[in-house]
Amino acid sequence: MPTSRPVVTRFAPSPTGYMHLGHAYAALFAWRAARTVGGRFQIRIEDIDKGRCRPAFADAIVEDLDWLGLDWDGPVMRQSDNLADYGRAIERLEALDVLYPCFCTRSEIRAEIARADAAPHGPDGALYPGTCRVLSRDQRRARIALGRPFALRLNMDKAMALAGPLDWHDRALGRQPCDPAGAGDVVVARKDTPTSYHLAVCVDDHRQGVTLVTRGEDLFQATHIHRLIQALLGLDVPAWHHHPLITDSTGARLAKRNRAMTLRALRQAGKYPAQVRAMIGFES
Ligand code: GLU
Repeated sequence: MPTSRPVVTRFAPSPTGYMHLGHAYAALFAWRAARTVGGRFQIRIEDIDKGRCRPAFADAIVEDLDWLGLDWDGPVMRQSDNLADYGRAIERLEALDVLYPCFCTRSEIRAEIARADAAPHGPDGALYPGTCRVLSRDQRRARIALGRPFALRLNMDKAMALAGPLDWHDRALGRQPCDPAGAGDVVVARKDTPTSYHLAVCVDDHRQGVTLVTRGEDLFQATHIHRLIQALLGLDVPAWHHHPLITDSTGARLAKRNRAMTLRALRQAGKYPAQVRAMIGFES
């Protein structure tokens, strides 16, 4: 259990829209976890999804964090600047022989799940059914030679066997046995980007020296995957603190999808930063 290291936290938004109250809560949570113990707080823009992320939103998030009264250490990191690092991590995983190319399209995966009698399921629904895991070396080569685009998936059973039993520490819930099997063969490099969310988070938390990952409890299951990737790559292991997601008065989650109020809208409506902080329980 990592307790003696200085606390280093981060806020890692994806710039797919303006910052809303849910983001503000996550940012303040990470900032407070560091600042109350004299630790470091960093910002990382998770912008690898070219289809959904916009540089203008990244700039707006940084501006809104500043308006909200947060300060941070070091430059703002952007994942799109780190693609070479992710490529090196992929090479290391390839050397361990725990990856395979997956040529399936989304609709092929859906059709295969519908067809299979006993498609594997995890906590978040149907898992990748393993179609490309069983391709022979020659079949893979032939498809690659034809120029078929492919993602790289982690062979979960093989990776777990290689890493052996693992656990991780959640500050709120204590020791957690690491059980990533429920995620199936996750993608570590997308067809359009030489990484995925899971891989990039692990590489960057290590590189930024993060010792405490604070984030919403919606990412609790992802932590099992991250702990495994860290073990495979020999990366530093942080502690985690998954916090509840803030909800409105009806109990609905405040997220972009249900048009939560953006900080911009609140600011334009005349709210002060202290009032916005108080709305989400940060009174000081
Ligand atoms: N970029 C992720 C998001 O916006 C957060 C990743 C993390 O905190 O590990 O949901």
